Amino acid sequence: MITCPNCGHVNDSNAFRCTNCDTVLQQAPAAPGPPTGGPPTYWTPAQVPNYLAQAIIVTILCCMPAGIPAIVFAAQSMSKVGSGDIAGALESAQKAKTWCWVAFGIGAVVMVGYVLFFVLAMSAGTMTFEG
Ligand SMILES: [Zn+2]
Repeated sequence: MITCPNCGHVNDSNAFRCTNCDTVLQQAPAAPGPPTGGPPTYWTPAQVPNYLAQAIIVTILCCMPAGIPAIVFAAQSMSKVGSGDIAGALESAQKAKTWCWVAFGIGAVVMVGYVLFFVLAMSAGTMTFEG
């Protein structure tokens, strides 16, 4: 509770002005600073995602033809960060990310294809063996 020094009216403890005479009771709450946790309104070089590691991993594990462009774009993004071209670096990072997913998707399809092939081959072989 805050008692107004001007008129004696009792206001809420969080009241900014007296509801009776409009006398300022306390300092306005601090102006909200830069938002924390929200998406940044601008990017610094440290905030440009680096997909080089992911690109190399998908190239080795999943699909080399689709992994190569991912590595190229990731490297391009890093060199653009180095030259201060943040917008270009973000664009390249986005392409690297896309190619990572392409390579991962192809790798997953190929993997499923291999599994199906072996399952079919084994069941076919078993039938032949038994027949
Ligand atoms: Zn008052």
